[in-house]
Amino acid sequence: MDLRGKQVVVIGTKRSGLAAIELLLKRGAHVRAMDASPLTPEEERRFAALGVPVLPQEPEYLKGDLIVLSPAVPYDLPMLADAREHGIAVIGEVELSSYFLKGAVIGITGSNGKTTTTALTGHLLKECGIPCQVGGNIGTAVTSLVDSSADNQWNVLELSSFQLESISHFNAKIGVCLNVTPDHLDRHGTFENYANAKARLFETQGVGDYAVLNLEDQVCRSFARRTKAQACWFSTSQPVPHGLWMRDDQLFWDKQPLMRRNDIKLRGLHNVENVMAAALTALLAGASPQQIGSAVASFPGVEHRIEFVRNLEGVNYFNDSKATNVDASLKAIDAFHNGLWIILGGKDKGSDYTPLREPLQQRAKAALLIGAEPPYPYAAAPLIRTALGNVVPVVDCGTLDSAVQYARAHAQPGDTVLLAPACASFDQFQNFEERGKVFKQLVKELF
Ligand code: ADP
Repeated sequence: MDLRGKQVVVIGTKRSGLAAIELLLKRGAHVRAMDASPLTPEEERRFAALGVPVLPQEPEYLKGDLIVLSPAVPYDLPMLADAREHGIAVIGEVELSSYFLKGAVIGITGSNGKTTTTALTGHLLKECGIPCQVGGNIGTAVTSLVDSSADNQWNVLELSSFQLESISHFNAKIGVCLNVTPDHLDRHGTFENYANAKARLFETQGVGDYAVLNLEDQVCRSFARRTKAQACWFSTSQPVPHGLWMRDDQLFWDKQPLMRRNDIKLRGLHNVENVMAAALTALLAGASPQQIGSAVASFPGVEHRIEFVRNLEGVNYFNDSKATNVDASLKAIDAFHNGLWIILGGKDKGSDYTPLREPLQQRAKAALLIGAEPPYPYAAAPLIRTALGNVVPVVDCGTLDSAVQYARAHAQPGDTVLLAPACASFDQFQNFEERGKVFKQLVKELF
């Protein structure tokens, strides 16, 4: 793609938009930016220093040769229709990267487990001496990996549905999907649209590529029919030829024993799936099977994902602030036996909380509810209270501080206090990271 002298508009001015702008400028394009919300003074200074004008997000400014969208901007944004009709190409930030990134791509998607699996895949490759760099949704915009990319180095990328919905030239040598369960329906409209966005990762693959897929997941199975890549399966429940699977406590690669489940320090069967996906990917990328077990064992896990915080007088505290949807909370609950004090609530995303009833009835001593209350329109606490009915004691705590104090006062030795809220955090926190950090701080201050 020759960008010299091209007029490009970038919509979205945060991390990915900014990274795209920097790449476009380096390649000689004339760039203007747009954002639906006003810039902070610091951002304004930054754009002024780059010499990039920031325009109001209005259709009349959508002129030029190319429009690049940051992942936060929907591909079907109504104001883009006119620009498309006038023959202006519209692509996403990840798609833009594909014209410049050197080295092959490992693209990792799924509703839950992407960050863990991406970090783990990078760790396994490094431990096995295979050059790679890690980025994407995990924290570094894909376009900002271009300069450090190299022909003999893998790009291990975490990719969300927002990043995938608009790809066509982008190609993953190895595409990975962990699971597809309802999430982000506010943006994609229907579950089918959401699954279709993830399917793009496999539809853009060719003969000679690999699709690493979870045999346990119905949507993942359907992706095998939508790709030219060779399907490579992993399964926690049944043998798969040429794939990765588990019987009792042994993981196999085809018929060959690969490692013990005990080598995995991360809790929960879902993390076994993440390990299987990462290990199979690393093997396809050339890692030696002899090194995989010890490489997995040395992976420390990722902050805010069932992260052990502290043991205080026999009570364990775990931070799973990243459990921002019901499925992730169910997986976290499943990773513990009983004696659970679970902290739930926050900003509702239109979720059905009734699947929490049965596991909480079996394992929880109480559900401690946090989060904004009505008239806040997205209050999850009342919905969770109704969904749980009387299967488990429900305590209205309001704040994380009160919930931690309540748990400290009531939990018995052997119990577990788990923050796995099943909701977004934006009603009371900047993001899930801040929520997790506040929780850890509160727990560390307990005496
Ligand atoms: P993502 O990047 O897809 O959001 P993370 O690795 O950050 O995934 O994990 C998000 C949440 O989902 C955490 O609460 C984690 O415990 C849970 N989780 C991780 N892996 C899986 C999985 N394979 N299936 C279901 N839930 C998972």
